[in-house]
Amino acid sequence: LLRASNVRKNYGNVQVLKGISLTVNAGEVMCLLGPSGSGKSTFLRCINHLERIDGGRISVAGELIGYTQRQGRIFEMNPREVSRQRRGIGMVFQRFNLFPHMNALENICAAPVGVKRIDKQHARKRALELLDRVGLAHVATSYPAQLSGGQQQRVAIARALAMDPQLLLFDEPTSALDPELVGDVLEVMRSLAADGMTMVVVTHEIGFARSAADKVVFMDGGVVIESGLPAEVIDNPQNPRTVSFLNSVM
Ligand code: ATP
Ligand code: MG
Repeated sequence: LLRASNVRKNYGNVQVLKGISLTVNAGEVMCLLGPSGSGKSTFLRCINHLERIDGGRISVAGELIGYTQRQGRIFEMNPREVSRQRRGIGMVFQRFNLFPHMNALENICAAPVGVKRIDKQHARKRALELLDRVGLAHVATSYPAQLSGGQQQRVAIARALAMDPQLLLFDEPTSALDPELVGDVLEVMRSLAADGMTMVVVTHEIGFARSAADKVVFMDGGVVIESGLPAEVIDNPQNPRTVSFLNSVM
C-alpha cells in the first residue's frame, strides 16, 4: 500500500533523509524506530506531502504522492489534488492537536462535515460510534481541556478515523503522556491493527513494536539501518547502532 523508494529530503545544506526505501502492505503495521534527529518525523511528513521531497518517490495505493507523471516527466501536483490525497492519510501527532474550542464530538465531525461535506446528522452518528470504539462515548461533549492526555489522544485517533483513511501515520503518539495513560492509547492502536488498518507508527514503545508490528524499521542519520520482523530487528539486531539504540530505550 505504501511504497517509498530512495526518498531524499534536505533542509538547506543538511541532508535529513538520505534515500529511504521501504514498503508497507495493506493491513500491515510498521513501527519506525530511531534516535532523536534520525529523520522519523520528517519521513512521516513526506508521506502526506507536508514536506516536499528532494528525490525518490512515495506512492500510496499505487498513486504517486505530491507529484504527477506525464510523458515520462514529473510535475508537482496542484494543491487540490494534494488535499485529496491527504484526506486518505490520517495522522496522529505527539501533542494531540485537538481544536481547543470544540468538544470531542465536534472535533471528530469537523473534517467530515467541513471537508468531505458529509451530512451533519450522519457525521455525528459516526463520530459517536468512533468515540465508543476508542472507549470514550461518555465524554462526547467534553472539551479537550477537560480530558486527560490519553483521552485527548484517543479523540485524536477517532478524529483521524472519521475521514476513513487508507493509511494511518502516528508520530510518537504516547510520548507526551503520563505513563499510566499510555496503555489505553496503545490498546486502541492494537485494536485498529487487529481490524486490518494499515499503520506506520513512530514510537519508542518497544513492547508495542514487538507485539503489534508486522515490520520494524530502525533508522539513524536519515538512512534505514535495519528492517525486518520484530523478532529480527528487536530481538536479534545485527547492526551495532540498532543494539545501542535498543539498549538506550529498553
Ligand atoms: P525526534 O525523535 O526527536 O522526534 P526525528 O527522528 O523525528 O527526531 P526529525 O524531526 O525528522 O527527527 O528531524 C531530522 C533532522 O532534521 C534533525 O536534525 C532536525 O534538526 C532537522 N529538521 C527537522 N525539521 C526541520 C526544519 N523544518 N528545518 C530545518 N531542519 C529541520
Ligand atoms: Mg520526531
